[in-house]
Amino acid sequence: MSQLPHPVKFAEMRNKTVMFRVDLNAPMKDGKVSDLTRIKRPAAGILALVEQGAKVVVASHFGRPKGKPSPELSLAPVAEALSQCLDHPVRFVPDIVGDVAAAAIRDMEQGDVIMLENLRFDPREEANDTAFAEKLVAEVDVYINDAFSCSHRAHASITAAADLRPAFAGPLMMAELEALDQVLGNPKRPLAAVVGGAKVSSKLDLLSNLVKQADVLIVGGGMANTFLLADGIAIGASLAEADLVDTAREIKAAALASGCQLVLPQDGVVASAFSAHAPHRTVHFADSDIASDEMILDAGPDAIAAAMAAITPCHTLIWNGPMGAFELPPFDAATTALARHVGSLSQNGSMTSVAGGGDTIAALNHAGVMDQFSYVSTAGGAFLEWLEGKPLPGVVALLGSA
Ligand code: AMP
Repeated sequence: MSQLPHPVKFAEMRNKTVMFRVDLNAPMKDGKVSDLTRIKRPAAGILALVEQGAKVVVASHFGRPKGKPSPELSLAPVAEALSQCLDHPVRFVPDIVGDVAAAAIRDMEQGDVIMLENLRFDPREEANDTAFAEKLVAEVDVYINDAFSCSHRAHASITAAADLRPAFAGPLMMAELEALDQVLGNPKRPLAAVVGGAKVSSKLDLLSNLVKQADVLIVGGGMANTFLLADGIAIGASLAEADLVDTAREIKAAALASGCQLVLPQDGVVASAFSAHAPHRTVHFADSDIASDEMILDAGPDAIAAAMAAITPCHTLIWNGPMGAFELPPFDAATTALARHVGSLSQNGSMTSVAGGGDTIAALNHAGVMDQFSYVSTAGGAFLEWLEGKPLPGVVALLGSA
């Protein structure tokens, strides 16, 4: 197992003043939180602290105010929504590191919860400014990071603050890290990776990392087209990056060198229009008869069968990106079929499956298998950087803390 941070032990938080960094970037409509999913997630950790009589100072950013106060990105309505989810009062403090915030924290009673204003209203947050972090934690005894989804950012409330107080991982952070560790830290082999989506260029680091780690790599979606082009296949008007054919060849060579079985589609579903229900046909690439105005919009039936056969014996699987233009039926067929196959292997206990990043959640939702995968990460950018093998500054900062 790779090194994991210390999880918070709630019994040790009795009567402590705790900064609890969360990700409360929930969707808003007409000044109110329109979907409580994001707000509900850290509720368990906050309530466990409240039960111990801790004073909980909730800190989060919201949107991209670019270092300036911006009323429409205030956390005031989020504090209200959090209070509703906790069924416990949450006092909103319209300040971050000023006298108002300091006084509010000093005035807290045991079991109180307050929420500071949007951290990104201050430019020092994104600059990872130590003096700002010192003020942020000046009145607290302990720092807890429960925001894995923000931990790829070296921001003051994520890294600098963790260096200044005993720092622990919250329960959501631990659940995410433990799930990810099962897949790339310490996987039960064979390990399969399914990587799809639009472009090779946005997933170069990810592909380079995964060919070194996985026993099987299924490449699908628009990005597979660049690999086909590298093999000299005429792909018509398909989405592809001609300037990356050498990169595609390098990834193939790296797979060969590390013993990773690279599975590319042998056939595809092509259409002349990028629209739902466009007239379409299946093409075997070896025959190379794609017309100049046709686009490959999905993997074909042989490609689906080959991908299923390759992943069936695998005990661990990681998935990022759709196998085709899944938003436009019938070009959702490969994504849906493969996702359902992974879902049933996971349900019958033969496979641990983890998915996340970009459009993956929408694709799995579309296939109706969200709850069949072992773990679906909602962390977006942080999940992708972890998949790329990059150390996440917020996790590193916790590892350094005793
Ligand atoms: P990404 O955000 O990189 O995971 O890309 C997801 C997008 O890739 C989705 O919107 C898909 O519609 C798109 N996509 C997948 N396969 C294809 C394809 N063969 N041609 C065009 N777009 C595709």
